Amino acid sequence: MMIIMHPGAPREQIDAVIAAVEGHKLTAHPIFGVEQTIIGAVGDGHYVLKETFEAFPGVLEVQRISKPYKLASRQFHEQDSVFEFNGFTIGGTEVPIIAGPCSVEGRTQILEVAQAVKEAGANALRGGVFKPRTSPYAFQGLGEEGLEYMAEAREKTGLPLVVEVMAVSQIEMMEKYVDIFQLGARNMQNFNLLRALGETRTPVLFKRGMSATIEEMLMASEYILNGGNHRVILCERGIRTFETATRNTTDINAVPVLKKLTHLPVVIDPSHSTGDSAYVQSIARAGVAAGADGLIVEVHQDPPHAISDGKQSLTPEAFAKMVKQVKAVAEAVDRSLVPQHATA
Ligand code: PEP
Ligand code: MN
Repeated sequence: MMIIMHPGAPREQIDAVIAAVEGHKLTAHPIFGVEQTIIGAVGDGHYVLKETFEAFPGVLEVQRISKPYKLASRQFHEQDSVFEFNGFTIGGTEVPIIAGPCSVEGRTQILEVAQAVKEAGANALRGGVFKPRTSPYAFQGLGEEGLEYMAEAREKTGLPLVVEVMAVSQIEMMEKYVDIFQLGARNMQNFNLLRALGETRTPVLFKRGMSATIEEMLMASEYILNGGNHRVILCERGIRTFETATRNTTDINAVPVLKKLTHLPVVIDPSHSTGDSAYVQSIARAGVAAGADGLIVEVHQDPPHAISDGKQSLTPEAFAKMVKQVKAVAEAVDRSLVPQHATA
C-alpha cells in the first residue's frame, strides 16, 4: 500500500510510520519528495488493514494497491473456475438453472414441483428446510424431514439439491443429503458459519448480503476458500436501496464486475432480487445477457398458497416460458443451456 504523508510532515513522523510498517513485517520504501513523502509498504501476502496506518500523526492518506481478497481474485486464478455436478457444469459455456420452491412444504409438494421444473429444463432443485424468516412466528421449515423429501425428489428426477444451511450445527446432518449448500444473504458475514463451510468439501452457493458491497462479498467468500473449499458459486440476489417498488434492487452491474474481479462462477437470483413474479422473467433474461453463469429461481405449483415467497414464485408454466426465453438470450451471448438429456 501507499502511505502518503502530509506536506511538510516532520522526519520523526515519517520515521514512526516506517517503524510501524516494519513492525508489521512489511518492507518500507520511502520516496522523499521536496514537500511530501510517500512510503510504499510491500509485503509477502500478510494482510494489514490500511486503517492501521491512517491514525498515525502526519499521515494524509493510505491507498491500497493490491486487493484485500486473494484466493477469490483473478490475479490468483486467471481462468474462470468451472465446477462439475451431476449433469452440468457451471462457470463454463453452459448456463445451468436451479429451480424449486422457497420452502419444502411437504412430500407431495416437493415431488410434484421437482418433476415440473425438471420437465421445464431445470438442472438442480432448490428448497429450503431451515428458513431465515423475519418473524419468529412465521414457518421455520421442515428440518430433516424436508431433507428426506428432497432426497426422494433427487432420486426420482436426478436433480442435485441446493439447500440453505443456517447454522454450524446443521452442517453435519445436512451433508448427508445436500449437493450444494446455500449460504443465505442474512448469513453472508456469519464468519463462524463461513469458516465451518470452508472445512467441508460440499460446494457453496454464496448469496450476497442485502447491504453488502461487492468487496465485502468477495472478502466473506474468502473465508470459505481459505479453509480449502474451492467450490464457491457467487449469487447476486438483490440489494437494499431507497427504491421500494420492488423487494430489492437487482445489482445487474455486479455480474460483469464480479466476472472481472473473480474467477468464481456468478449466478443471478431474479426471484429475491425483484420479489415479484411479474418481473422474474425479465431479470432472468437480463442476468444471462449480462454474463451470469446460471440462475436460481423460485417455482411453486400454487404460488398464492405457498407458505413463503409465493408472490415471487413462478408457476411451472411461467418457468417453462422463462427457460425458453433464457435459452435464446444465452445463445445470443455465445452460451447455452445445459442439454436436456444431460440430467435425464
Ligand atoms: C431463499 O433463497 O429462499 C432466501 C431466503 O434467500 P436470501 O438469503 O437471498 O434472502
Ligand atoms: Mn425465498
